[in-house]
Amino acid sequence: MTIYLDNSATTRVRPEVVEAMLEYLNDHFGNPSSIHALGRESYKAVALARQNVAGLLGCSPTEIYFSSCGTMSNNAAILGRARFVEANDGGRHLITTSIEHPSVIGPARYLESQGWRVTCLPVDSQGLVKVADLESAITDRTSIVSIMLANNEVGSIQPIQEMGAAIERASRKHGKEIFFHTDAIQAAGKLKLDVGAMGVSALSISGHKFHAPKGVGALYLRKGVNIMPITFGGGQEKGLLPGTEGLPNIVALGTAARLAGEELDDNIARLRSLQEMLIAHLEPIEGLTLTGPRDLDKRLPGHVSVAVANAEGEALVMQLDLKGVCVSSASACHKGIIEPSHVLTALSVPCNMLKGSVRISAGRFTTREDCEKACRIMTEIFSAPKPAPAARLN
Ligand code: PLP
Repeated sequence: MTIYLDNSATTRVRPEVVEAMLEYLNDHFGNPSSIHALGRESYKAVALARQNVAGLLGCSPTEIYFSSCGTMSNNAAILGRARFVEANDGGRHLITTSIEHPSVIGPARYLESQGWRVTCLPVDSQGLVKVADLESAITDRTSIVSIMLANNEVGSIQPIQEMGAAIERASRKHGKEIFFHTDAIQAAGKLKLDVGAMGVSALSISGHKFHAPKGVGALYLRKGVNIMPITFGGGQEKGLLPGTEGLPNIVALGTAARLAGEELDDNIARLRSLQEMLIAHLEPIEGLTLTGPRDLDKRLPGHVSVAVANAEGEALVMQLDLKGVCVSSASACHKGIIEPSHVLTALSVPCNMLKGSVRISAGRFTTREDCEKACRIMTEIFSAPKPAPAARLN
């Protein structure tokens, strides 16, 4: 029996979500833009899903735009706002952090290649950005700030609300609206998301991180905030994310969002208790260090990340896989060389630990028995003597 502890990578689709989708795969398959009865049914289903997602984020349904995934939401927000800034001769300065997901790093690097100045804020050894660093990085040329709410590799939760307040103060000082985007893809279903309280202009989520299928996401865009499209087509999603709506996936996202909202407190409590148990079992292992915040208030519920001295993350993942435990590693092997992740490097994780990262992430379907069994297997594998690192000849 497989023990799945890789819920930060993706989650299993909930049976209630599968059930809700089936109707829109089998019977109500109309195009939401068609004016006949089948089309109107589909249109209504998209509207209900929009309402459900808005409920999870605490905003109006008119502020929700469906996308094909989290990556698309992040790109549409950052590059779409950059197009708007350029069209209005705004300052070409973007602030982000050194631990973002590639779907934020990618657009930031692209903008840099187009002449934008990009500031990557540092993080401390727990993966947290200081609000003071953000404040001092903002200049009268700053137009876009993109800071993730929760990190996928080390689970750190940024003080987004304080950052939102700081950005609002800076916007007033400089007499302009600084666009504040947050990638909340790891946080949906695990943290309370209230876009008003956070003070964000835009926020991205992705269905497959909270029990909807892969291939659907959403972007919250505050009413009155402008972005321009980065893809062009038939005008769906008010022309910002065009393309025929992925109806069954959108219904799934809406259903998963409704359930995530209804069960949020219970889910957080359950994930916290599994997380505490995993940490209590793993932390005493010699040569193992917990990466990311030790203070659980600053860490994503259910998320545990460790680094094992003188080990290779991918090898540990494969050994665990052979014993039926699914986890992941941030240290990937490229062309025979183990590359430490940019996140662990930014956290200044010691050299002998950089390559031995393992992420263990519990989810809605994880049981206590799963975690106990996985802990026994992990203890055996993580404590096994590691070969001395091979001498590098070049
Ligand atoms: N941002 C974060 C923090 C993520 O963890 C992921 C997925 O791993 C993404 C963005 C990309 O989302 P998607 O897989 O839906 O494109």
